[in-house]
Amino acid sequence: MRHLCTAGTLALVASSLASGAWADFTLTILHTNDFHDRFEPINGTDSTCQPEEAAANECFGGVARLLTAVRDARGRAENSVLLDAGDQFQGSLLYTQYKGAMSAEFMPLLGYQAMAVGNHEFDDGPAVLGPFIDALGLPVLSANIDASREPLLAGKVAPSTVIDVGGERIGVVGLTTTETPEIASPGPNVNVLPYDAAQQAIDELTAQGVTKVILLSHAGYADDQALAQSLTGVDVIVGGHSHTLLSNTEDGAAGPYPTMVNGVPIVTARSYGKYLGELTVTFDDEGNVTAASGDPILLNASVAEDEAARARVTELAAPLEELRAQVVAETAGAIDGERESCRAVECEMGNLVAEAMLARVADQGVTIAIANGGGLRASIDAGPVTMGEVLTVLPFQNTLSTFQVSGEAVVAALENGASQIEEQAGRFAQVAGLRYAIDLSQPAGSRVSDVQVLIGGDAWGPIDPAATYGVVSNNYVRSGGDGFAMFVDAANAYDFGPDLADVTAEYLAANQPYAPFTDGRITVTGTAAPVAEEAAATPEAAPAEATDIAAISPLVLRYSCEDGRVVDAAFLALGDRDLAVLSLDGAEPALLTIAASASGARYVGAGLQWWGKGQDEAMLAPLAEGEDIASAAGTTCRADQPATP
Ligand SMILES: [Zn+2]
Repeated sequence: MRHLCTAGTLALVASSLASGAWADFTLTILHTNDFHDRFEPINGTDSTCQPEEAAANECFGGVARLLTAVRDARGRAENSVLLDAGDQFQGSLLYTQYKGAMSAEFMPLLGYQAMAVGNHEFDDGPAVLGPFIDALGLPVLSANIDASREPLLAGKVAPSTVIDVGGERIGVVGLTTTETPEIASPGPNVNVLPYDAAQQAIDELTAQGVTKVILLSHAGYADDQALAQSLTGVDVIVGGHSHTLLSNTEDGAAGPYPTMVNGVPIVTARSYGKYLGELTVTFDDEGNVTAASGDPILLNASVAEDEAARARVTELAAPLEELRAQVVAETAGAIDGERESCRAVECEMGNLVAEAMLARVADQGVTIAIANGGGLRASIDAGPVTMGEVLTVLPFQNTLSTFQVSGEAVVAALENGASQIEEQAGRFAQVAGLRYAIDLSQPAGSRVSDVQVLIGGDAWGPIDPAATYGVVSNNYVRSGGDGFAMFVDAANAYDFGPDLADVTAEYLAANQPYAPFTDGRITVTGTAAPVAEEAAATPEAAPAEATDIAAISPLVLRYSCEDGRVVDAAFLALGDRDLAVLSLDGAEPALLTIAASASGARYVGAGLQWWGKGQDEAMLAPLAEGEDIASAAGTTCRADQPATP
């Protein structure tokens, strides 16, 4: 307004703004997801922060730090809400000890206004979830969970809620991954409906005149992007489940924050309380989003811990010592988990952990288990086994990951495992449901032979490279850790199953007294060539110089991009040099190496980045030096035909 106002008209303007009668409404959405019981701070690998790490300011998160961050963010926001997109449950000994009780205590204290039901909220069935919701006293939402026939949950999970913020009504609709029945324990009386159940909940809000709708989704980043296209009336999606980091500033982010799809801003804030999401959106009078911006706040040592909350967590953590001292099983002999064995040959701890993983998910059609030797950190001595001992072997709070890959990919994984035995690398593949042979005299990449799988009963037969196998590993390996890039694009992947230490402890308990064994499932023969010679033999730089891309890999796909470019792409795994070779419009091929990514395979190099969304679709973008790969805008490319016959 340019004309002069009297004091009276100013007051009128101010009151109109306050009532929202004709003005933009600005809302800051603070959000978390996949907290997984990390009430204590975490270290750089997401496990419980140790005192020396805390002293070195190397820790993140923790509920006491989150409380400070929420308080600060609320303080600088005009209007704010605090939401959680599910999976509060499971992931630390505090969950083993208290189930949902700590979330029920802290979430109201932090001022959460609603949460979505995550799959892990069903880990201990309705018997734990029902009382948790009562104790929490906050809206617990899912539009696609019908719990009306489950007495312990009936009437407790609502499809949506309406939150009053600064005189505006904000609708929040919950959603839960449809995989929940397979990966958690909702029981026979809980019905998980398809995602379009959310539309009905949105329409009901719209019918009540609620024009600002947030979808609080525990479906994962990929599904959230699809939902942004398929649902109508959603203004913002706040997601969880895939533990995806979206950021405009942090390394390794899977996409920008927010990710705009069909005009809908999508946000999610990784996991484990490491970040607090902070998205500020502006709504116009009709409730349309006209602006959305923000970034997740990294909760590092620069964020002070709230003293009272910290003291309370310390108090609650005290009984965990008892839990660690608890005897979970008896072992008849010592279980060898030394790095000299587990990173070079079949070892007893490798067999134990791989068999435990396989047993846990065998009823999900999984027949093969792969455990990276580097994930096994200690031996266990004979006699009583305490939970503390199991946690010393498996300290990373890794979770079971299930997925489907071809026999060819399984063999590639074993080759990767055998590729750096000389360096005692952690990638060595301890297995269950598999037998294989390693010849160390062969170059890395061609050392594995005689790979066999169970073909029924006790009968073993050769693996079929073209067949699809259900595999279980841990979330670190599945996301490409230790060079297992062949698993990054695996089908039907779910990375956040039960904790590996819990699974191992339960397996020991069910098979006690446990008899440690090796049974010859992995045979290692031959002597490795001296390392220097071997390195010279590795065709490291060869692909970059090759002009015929088809000579590099038998798998060459031709993609047509939306900007008109044509890309031939070949993919290789050479030891830990996991490469993609791209030929743009028939030009000299460019060599790209795999980059860490929370979702999908992402390759960078030669001023380009390329990230696959399954084999048929990918994104291609220029990459300036020093540029954050997540923020570069790309063009969509689709595989239309094999580039070679
Ligand atoms: Zn989840």
